[in-house]
Amino acid sequence: MTDEAMRARARVFEDLSVAASALALWLAAGCTIDASPEVSDGGVSDGLLHATFIDVGQGDSALFELPDGSIVLVDGGEEGQGLNAVLPIMEEKGISAIDLMILTHPHSDHCGGLDEVMAHVEVAEIWENGEALDTPAYAGYGAERNASGAEVLHPSVGDARAFGEVVIEVLATNTGYPQANNDSIASSLTYRDVRFLLPGDAEVEEQGDMLDAHDPADLRAAVLKVPHHGSSDFDPAFPETVMPGFAVISCGLGNDYGHPHQESLDAYAAIDAAICRTDQMGDVLFTTDGAEIETNCGG
Ligand SMILES: [Zn+2]
Ligand SMILES: [Zn+2]
Repeated sequence: MTDEAMRARARVFEDLSVAASALALWLAAGCTIDASPEVSDGGVSDGLLHATFIDVGQGDSALFELPDGSIVLVDGGEEGQGLNAVLPIMEEKGISAIDLMILTHPHSDHCGGLDEVMAHVEVAEIWENGEALDTPAYAGYGAERNASGAEVLHPSVGDARAFGEVVIEVLATNTGYPQANNDSIASSLTYRDVRFLLPGDAEVEEQGDMLDAHDPADLRAAVLKVPHHGSSDFDPAFPETVMPGFAVISCGLGNDYGHPHQESLDAYAAIDAAICRTDQMGDVLFTTDGAEIETNCGG
């Protein structure tokens, strides 16, 4: 290991100890599910969960390598980001197949890069919210999806899938709101005591629905992908209920929407979450054994 690598590693562990105090806030009831081994191409299978919130500019894309080797990809950024951002990371990690791909909603900053991913990597199963948009980005996605041979499901609230000890559960999905953001598939991904919450672009309406439909303990998460790129259109009770140790904001530097909005930054600062912005730090990384978390986000 080079000196530089050792210093980087030391920094990660320093960050981890800083994070530990935040983690104590949400370490609560664990979730134990009998392991059901899955076979998968790629992935590291080292007993750890690796999450990468990929810097796709203004958009979302998160890659999860699960402890049993399964691979989950949630969204794929705008057109071009599949080739330029998502696939290079998958190649570097030696990932040649995706077990589950989730498209949270059909906006181009979420679906745009997924056709490029599907053109290069086999996808076993896709979860969609069932909405289609008449846009070039969605048309490209739909064509590649139809050609992919993947099983396509439109899951309902409460649907869950276990990959070994990791459980992915749908917390909200399409209810026909006029604003497509509020029809995002919102899901939790839980490994033992560590939960990631992935609400897509859910705004105040869908966040309210989640708060109404679920016990607060089921929304509590170590890591929150902050809804809608840190938009000001949020329910103040949402951050206060999720109480993340880490608030990941996926957005592009100098984006046209002014994301993240100050109101959102203030809300996560108020609950002492470490704020991890892809526009400032590039890819945001988490590794966990289901109890402790290593990250490159010191907050
Ligand atoms: Zn978006
Ligand atoms: Zn959207």
